[in-house]
Amino acid sequence: MCGIIGYLGPRNVVPVILSGLRRLEYRGYDSAGIALVREGRIQAERAVGRLDNLAARMNSQPDSAQQANGIQIGVGHTRWATHGPPSERNAHPHVSMDGNVAVVHNGIIENFLELKRDLQAEGVVFNSDTDTEVIVHLVDRYLHAGMTLEQASHHAVKQLRGSQAVVIICASEPDKLVAARIGNAGGISIGIGDDEMFVASDIPGILDYTRRIIFLDSHEVAVVQLNDLRVRKLDGGLVSKQTHTIAWDPVAAEKGEYRHFMQKEIHEQGRAITDTIRGRVDFHTGQVSLENLELTPDLALGLSRIYTTSCGTSAHSGLVGKFLLETIARVPTEVDYGSEFRYRDPLVGPGMVVLGITQSGETADTLAALQEGRDKGAHVWSIVNAIGSQAERISDGFISMRAGPEIGVASTKAFTTSIVDQYLLACYLAQHLPRYKGTQVAEHSHQFASELARLPNMVSQVLEPEPLYDELANLFHDREHFLYLGRGINYPLALEGALKLKEISYIHAEGYPAGAVCRGARWGLREDDLPDRAGKGTQRYCHCNCHSWR
Ligand code: GLU
Repeated sequence: MCGIIGYLGPRNVVPVILSGLRRLEYRGYDSAGIALVREGRIQAERAVGRLDNLAARMNSQPDSAQQANGIQIGVGHTRWATHGPPSERNAHPHVSMDGNVAVVHNGIIENFLELKRDLQAEGVVFNSDTDTEVIVHLVDRYLHAGMTLEQASHHAVKQLRGSQAVVIICASEPDKLVAARIGNAGGISIGIGDDEMFVASDIPGILDYTRRIIFLDSHEVAVVQLNDLRVRKLDGGLVSKQTHTIAWDPVAAEKGEYRHFMQKEIHEQGRAITDTIRGRVDFHTGQVSLENLELTPDLALGLSRIYTTSCGTSAHSGLVGKFLLETIARVPTEVDYGSEFRYRDPLVGPGMVVLGITQSGETADTLAALQEGRDKGAHVWSIVNAIGSQAERISDGFISMRAGPEIGVASTKAFTTSIVDQYLLACYLAQHLPRYKGTQVAEHSHQFASELARLPNMVSQVLEPEPLYDELANLFHDREHFLYLGRGINYPLALEGALKLKEISYIHAEGYPAGAVCRGARWGLREDDLPDRAGKGTQRYCHCNCHSWR
């Protein structure tokens, strides 16, 4: 995942930003860039590939970007493309047409096409294929209308749909950075130094300089100045923020604003999903590419069945995937525990795929099931989080989860990202199996794939009412038994919910198909269905989602 570092203070800005970006390199990126204010103008430099390429370019420039008051300001970014291929022109920062504003951004702007069309109609010329570029032109539009940078940034950010982190600098107001966070696809932390300020997507990028950190919550915008830090909600009101002092030990530093790793990883889902889909979906056309899948022409012609084998959480993910593969790609899919599959002489053979889902890529039963499939002549694919693991190595093709490390005991973000991988796989098959050419199956898959742009933000919205979830936990923590009910695609989610509760609390919990348990415990009217059943008298429906009616 990409990174952002911003700096305002007396140090030489370029090394501060480069060293911060280097600390975030482990998150992955394809290009990088820096913008700073020098001699009253924005100067931006961008380069594809390693940070060393960017550093080499910066070396050929004058050393200092000191302003008259001795202060320097700049922002840097490592990009991992979601919109537009990795290239110099698509790398961040993006700069306004008049060279006055620079923007870096993490995340996906769901409505960028609409915004881009409006801006182009006003005469704006776009220089990249990214969604990000709309932000800089929106800010510029409002600055030209006479607003301050703070007002213009508010107006611009308010129009973006989706989850994002944005940092903006402006040559005509070179004493401040503006940073905004919406949702969970990218965090924003503000580091308070002695007479200097930092902004970062992840705190390891600035912990060398300061341990005093303020975390922005979703829908907050900060104006960061040397002697002033103002944070507002996007809808206007000032917010007072707590300053956290981060301990020196690496575990505390890694946990950042969260109480424990599982909470952190739950909140990282929006970001992990963004990572999972980046570079794999063309959001203009809905075309999916899975570069490591190895769908051979023979297999594409003859694929008759998929056997998903996995264990625990991955098995529940496979059950959700069965719905996706059968609904979107119309390929019959069976799901089995690795331990069952390998011992039951499965009817698997050529023209079929055995798909292993394993976070670690080392789950013994799943590996044995893959081997069983291979021995019987099936094609072997895997969905793995740990790159280079055995599952990946013994497979003909693989899809990576890109969830990042899971330290919490119970798997969370690997569950959601492996479901997203199966969604991508379903769209990919619908688009690449010759039998679907020119059919509705292929056509619909483009729409399905494009809709993935909305997913990271939807996940953020589900996580936002966290205090409500705390209240529910307080209300129910002393109960002895829990039943999780779900129907259709929600049944495997019920199984996974029950597993999570058991793993974390040791309270007895079971997942059940809703229809098998309820059969009409909560009869009530559902107005929207009445017209369909006209003539049959008043229909009553069960409100528990078991779909019973009478
Ligand atoms: N959507 C933006 C792009 O493709 C940001 C990517 C990122 O998060 O690095 O440029």
